[in-house]
Amino acid sequence: MIYIERKQPKPKTLKTKKDLYSEEFISALEKDFHNKCYICEGRIPAINVEHFKPTKFYPELEFVWENLYLSCERCNKIKGTKSILDCTDKSVEIESRIKYECSSFRAHDVKIELANGFDDDLTKGTINILEIVYNGNTPIRERGTNLLRKALIDEMIIFQELFENYEDAKFNEDERKFYENRISNKLSQASPFAAFKRQIIKDTPE
Ligand SMILES: [Zn+2]
Repeated sequence: MIYIERKQPKPKTLKTKKDLYSEEFISALEKDFHNKCYICEGRIPAINVEHFKPTKFYPELEFVWENLYLSCERCNKIKGTKSILDCTDKSVEIESRIKYECSSFRAHDVKIELANGFDDDLTKGTINILEIVYNGNTPIRERGTNLLRKALIDEMIIFQELFENYEDAKFNEDERKFYENRISNKLSQASPFAAFKRQIIKDTPE
């Protein structure tokens, strides 16, 4: 999960369940969340409108724009009515709280850990959800985990290749600039699995 800055204005009509299926609403939500699930950061095969604060406990927030997030169906189900860190609130500093690591083998679990200095319940609860999202291995969850890990590893391989190309272009300024821009795009809010790629930069700043 990374910080997502929401910029779209609130859709004009947002009062009934039907409005949650309107073109205006869905496209505003897709723009705000860059067409990716805010929890797993994957591109979404089946989109869900996720109530960040669940309607079970906050029925008054059912049609409140700021409470409606874009997620994939799987993450929506896994999160359910649990509370997690709010990735749209800059002051939460979500990216300082959780560390990510992914091996290049699909059979290996993804590592998701508390960053130094954080041990609050909300961060721990968020890590528990992410554990199920990336590593869930019950028969029902395993299929989704495999697909997600494949997408994650594919993205990490592209990212790694860009770095190698960047290194190889040591003596060619134009080429180096080209790869630098591509690396930078891969670290942007809109890029899938940005948390994992940003972690690489944090761990190897040089
Ligand atoms: Zn997801």
